[in-house]
Amino acid sequence: MTNKDIARLLKETAALLELSGANPFRIRAFSGAARTIERMPQRLADVDDLTEIQGIGKGLSAQIQDILARGSFDVRDELLGAVPPGVLDVLSVKGLGAKKARVLWHELGVTSLDDLEHAARAGRVAELDGFGPRSQTTILDGIATLRRFMGRLRLADAARMAAQLAEQIRDGSAAVRDVQFTGGLRRCLNDVGRVDLLLVTPDGSIPDALPEALQGATKCTKGGLQGAEAVLDSGIRVHLLATPPETAGWALAWSTGPDALRSAFPDSMPGSEEDVFRAAGLSWIAPELRDVPQVATRTHALAALRLVTLDDFQGCLHNHSTYSDGAHTLEEMAIAVRERGYTYFGICDHSQTLRVANGMSPQTVRRQQQEIGRLNEKFASDGGPPFRIFSGVESDILADGSLDYEDDVLASFDFLVASIHTGFNMTREEATSRLITAVANPYTRILGHPTGRLILRRDGYDIDHEAVLEACARHDVAVELNANPYRLDLDWTWVERARQLGVRVAINPDAHSTDQLDLTEWGVRAARKGGLEASECLNALSADDFARWASRS
Ligand SMILES: [Zn+2]
Ligand SMILES: [Zn+2]
Repeated sequence: MTNKDIARLLKETAALLELSGANPFRIRAFSGAARTIERMPQRLADVDDLTEIQGIGKGLSAQIQDILARGSFDVRDELLGAVPPGVLDVLSVKGLGAKKARVLWHELGVTSLDDLEHAARAGRVAELDGFGPRSQTTILDGIATLRRFMGRLRLADAARMAAQLAEQIRDGSAAVRDVQFTGGLRRCLNDVGRVDLLLVTPDGSIPDALPEALQGATKCTKGGLQGAEAVLDSGIRVHLLATPPETAGWALAWSTGPDALRSAFPDSMPGSEEDVFRAAGLSWIAPELRDVPQVATRTHALAALRLVTLDDFQGCLHNHSTYSDGAHTLEEMAIAVRERGYTYFGICDHSQTLRVANGMSPQTVRRQQQEIGRLNEKFASDGGPPFRIFSGVESDILADGSLDYEDDVLASFDFLVASIHTGFNMTREEATSRLITAVANPYTRILGHPTGRLILRRDGYDIDHEAVLEACARHDVAVELNANPYRLDLDWTWVERARQLGVRVAINPDAHSTDQLDLTEWGVRAARKGGLEASECLNALSADDFARWASRS
């Protein structure tokens, strides 16, 4: 159980307490502890005495021990028993806190999303004290968004869940020779509504012994293969297919899809996946590439691409430290980057305007740059592999498109990532011109997470991608493919256009802690979906080439 998981349970408990009208001090104790735990660099599970953490007394310490031991604690269990479960769904509607959800529950008897939608459509929400017609519309929009995202998983979460299921399936039945990811999961879609697994068994049948989560799965057949489908408690669908070893290559190709390729494949055949593509007159291509437009007519060209891999990476750019809102110090981050085999590290803490993320004042910038100088001397003389830190910043793009420091401060950085973090309420034209103004600023080197979207949480602001990418090409600015599984922004569908325009793509973990440095792999998958080659990836430059590029020399 990670700190995040524990914090989530404590926050949920705070919300449940608020829903049941509990004492505000009690509510604050849980929400305060959740915030502290979220920010702790150290794993809670490794802490001996929890009461040494600020804001955690004896009671909370015992409750956290319970969470670590059994995933919940008494107060939460009681509250979950007392509050109708659907009220928690109501809480997840954007703009509805526990206080409002409580009013809706007590005044209108709203205990589910359906109840809420009915009440809002009938105009009854607008009549409540503290709501009004505008918040009623916001609530209806929020419900529509939630419905769109429900029952879906971000790729990283789906992959984690699929790996667990695969292991349980292997452990549960000696007959299962192999379990492979397939379908949208194997194609590395941003998010999936179904987890697909392919089982290789001697006779191509689904084993009787399935993991507990899949008990009650219904048998089916797909493409002549035996299958089983189940819906997990979380609403996620799981789809198993079984194949005998002889046709495993065909079953993998067929089940991976998408339909555009599936329809070209023969009806089952022996041999490898490559053989199946060849039999269809196609070249084998990496699963990530199979969603490009008109894929069936393009496999020969796509097969010739030298797709970027994590091994091509020299530099890890756009990361945070305790100088702004990161959990680890600059030195801890740098050491963790070096340990991962990179030869350079870009630190890009937040700029001064972003107070919520402890953005850096010009004085803090100077202090950080002095520390970078000291660390670089140390790294150069410690006998380890070559390694250096570049002084970067993630500058907020202000409302008018300008950057967040005076020129003398901007000039002191080795490179600058420009991103929007505030003022999302813009028209497409406003957002596009705000971004283009920032891209045209000579200090900007990378355009950070261009749309601000959070997958399965919020859509980004609408932008004219074509115009923004053209501006990047004109000003030799790289576009970021932010590798955080929530972001994957630039979306992979625009990577091909960036390549055509000669815009370099920077795949950045935007790490706020050392373990988040590993998020880069999700960005690599998304970039590969768009056909990105190593030579087009900013992070593949050597440290010297990156330095030259960054300084426009
Ligand atoms: Zn950012
Ligand atoms: Zn960032």
